[in-house]
Amino acid sequence: PSADALAHAESLIRTVPDYPEPGVLFRDITPLLADAGALRAVIDALIEPFDGGFDVVAGVEARGFLLAGAAATVAGVGMVPVRKAGKLPRPAASVSYALEYARATIEVHDDLAPGTRVLLVDDVLATGGTLAAAHELFAELGVVVVGTAVLMELEALGGRALVHDVHTVFTA
Ligand code: AMP
Repeated sequence: PSADALAHAESLIRTVPDYPEPGVLFRDITPLLADAGALRAVIDALIEPFDGGFDVVAGVEARGFLLAGAAATVAGVGMVPVRKAGKLPRPAASVSYALEYARATIEVHDDLAPGTRVLLVDDVLATGGTLAAAHELFAELGVVVVGTAVLMELEALGGRALVHDVHTVFTA
């Protein structure tokens, strides 16, 4: 994608103060998703470094689904949803991790042939807890995660300490 297209896409990420709670600067990607050119530019930028190197795109509920579905379609591969606990009928792996005030559990089905190369995507890298847990999840299945890509990294939150080698389209 061109630098102009990416700059336009970045300008469509809306920063909402004090949502969902006081002190949080929420990065709302819905205006970007609603723009055809911006959506295509960020999907292309998200998968570009991994071109041809993955067989499936995994997305973390819920906003990761939006990007993973689009990325998989553009790349011509399938998509795997990583879901919050209790949503999948036959979870094969389950990982619990700490959030700021609570714990969360994510689960995944095992519908992948041995050796399948997974590209893991999410919208925002904050503390890194969610993506680190998703890596653990695929490790439990014995599935290889070949790359991790996010739309936006919030650098001040230090997520890279937990998730190494993340490809990020935008940084804030
Ligand atoms: P973390 O596990 O702390 O890296 O948080 C990542 C998850 O929380 C991602 O799936 C994001 O969708 C969401 N998230 C965390 N912080 C923000 C933020 N400031 N704006 C938008 N989404 C966020």
